[in-house]
Amino acid sequence: MQLIDGKSLSQKVQSSVQAEVEKLKQEKNIVPGLAVVIVGDDPASHAYVSMKEKACKSVGFYSIAHKMPETITQDEIIQIITMMNNNPHIHGILVQLPLPPHIDTNKILEVIDPKKDVDGFHAYNVGRMVTNLDSFVACTPLGVMKMFQEYNIDLQGKDVVVVGASNIVGKPMAALLLNANATVTVTHIYTKDLASHTRNADIIIVGVGKPNLITEDMVKDGAIVIDIGINRLDNGKLVGDVDFENVSPKCSYITPVPGGVGPMTIAMLLSNTLKATKQFGEDI
Ligand code: NAD
Repeated sequence: MQLIDGKSLSQKVQSSVQAEVEKLKQEKNIVPGLAVVIVGDDPASHAYVSMKEKACKSVGFYSIAHKMPETITQDEIIQIITMMNNNPHIHGILVQLPLPPHIDTNKILEVIDPKKDVDGFHAYNVGRMVTNLDSFVACTPLGVMKMFQEYNIDLQGKDVVVVGASNIVGKPMAALLLNANATVTVTHIYTKDLASHTRNADIIIVGVGKPNLITEDMVKDGAIVIDIGINRLDNGKLVGDVDFENVSPKCSYITPVPGGVGPMTIAMLLSNTLKATKQFGEDI
């Protein structure tokens, strides 16, 4: 069994982003700028935003966080995003999800200028990604693809089961795998017999949010397991969706939690923001 080390790969990506930022500053006097919009006081969302801000700072980005109260109206959020769309110092805009129930998330995401949509959630970018055109791709699935590339894991013809089908994790993950010529099965809460799918998979990618959802009996010998889930147990421990202790001995490769997909998500956000900065002013 080999661990896929997301932490060290993310550091490698960050170093290369940092070097490019330095070059952009020296040669063109441009500093990549990322605006983050966060609504309400969910501690997990605030923790993610502060990790993102810290990462931006470490590579030399300019970053600004718009922290809004839970009571903010949809129109007020739209006004802030419009301001950021028009701000030439901001190259990337990210709205931290989830938003409170009185806000229409899809409506908010559609207001972001697709050229600044570094989370890749705008329908314009999703459509381009599905048709295999250049686009901003959601950071978590993009980070998983980067891991496959780094570890020379060939996806062509592989049977891949994606567990979880959200717009931000499972669906874009499935589209990227299909673009890489894998045979993809997408499973979700209404899937009748999850184990019957995972047991035959060469690769299992799980992003659900349920500790120990994937157990030893659901994984074939030699499978590759990518754990996107992040769960905080009552004892404070951070775990994924996979029973790591019992599943890992069966795997050829597996990602740990923490230290797997999580750091890659942040690294891909930096890399997408750099891409948006370089493309700034170009027509798309
Ligand atoms: P979500 O709640 O929007 O979607 C969960 C998906 O899991 C749904 O498609 C649902 O149908 C499916 N599901 C629920 N129970 C299931 C079951 N018993 N069997 C099979 N499928 C089931 O969640 P999300 O935003 O997609 O996040 C999923 C997980 O990934 C969470 O733990 C989240 O914290 C984590 N996450 C991690 C990163 C990262 O950087 N590592 C990024 C985003 C999300």
